[in-house]
Amino acid sequence: MRILPAPPGTGIVFRRTDLDGFEIEAISRNVARVSYATSLMKKGVLISTTEHLLSAFIGVGIDNAIIELDNLELPILDGSAQPFVEMMQKAGIRRQRRPRKYLKIRREMELREGDKFIAVYPADTYAVSYAINFPHPLIGKERFEVTLSNGSYLRNIAAARTFGSREDEQAMRNMGLIRGASRENCIVLTRDGIENGPLRFEDEFVRHKVLDLVGDLALLGKQILGNVVADRAGHAMHTALVSRILRDKSLWEEVTVSAEEFDRPAVTASLAAVGSSL
Ligand SMILES: [Zn+2]
Repeated sequence: MRILPAPPGTGIVFRRTDLDGFEIEAISRNVARVSYATSLMKKGVLISTTEHLLSAFIGVGIDNAIIELDNLELPILDGSAQPFVEMMQKAGIRRQRRPRKYLKIRREMELREGDKFIAVYPADTYAVSYAINFPHPLIGKERFEVTLSNGSYLRNIAAARTFGSREDEQAMRNMGLIRGASRENCIVLTRDGIENGPLRFEDEFVRHKVLDLVGDLALLGKQILGNVVADRAGHAMHTALVSRILRDKSLWEEVTVSAEEFDRPAVTASLAAVGSSL
């Protein structure tokens, strides 16, 4: 995988170098099947496990980039967004002097499915509140709230790794995913603990759910200004929220903000150089 700089207006675009450079835009319209991971598909061409890299782009503040990939699955690496963040920081970030367009939520939207819940409410910043209730002695009920500004994504979210049991792993392998996965690229749960400790955060599990949510919401194609609340949701509900938001234009408006009122750069950005291969 390589990440290339791209001009303003490009957005985030995947390019399959093994398929004559076929391009798939990272937008809601191209969302394919969603289960353990989020996948994009266009004209039968698949890109799998997009959420951690897209999350890193939002966290670092990159709006425009081309991701070259010689395979259908993104590298899972350590199961977090941290290696992608470091790759982008090493390449450098170039501001593009074009105002960033935000998708500002004007009206609330709530989705429920059994005991799962996800919603978005009007706000002037991007905030996420996530709750999980996972039947495992180390997890149980966890809840994490964060406003994604002033480096809080980089400090609190980027390093949180994905988790699963050996049974999940086998199921994913059967679907042709996580080739090469091992204890190096996720927290492996055992019946009463974890195989490969220590945890990076005491509540690493719920922080990773925030990471996934941010990555899936990136499929809006714009940074969001809103308060997102999720309870036991997953990729399917995250991406359902995205398509519901985009479908109902009375829920939001496109705005630009000045750097002064926002205390961070409000222009688009790309990489200053090619991100080193992984
Ligand atoms: Zn994940």
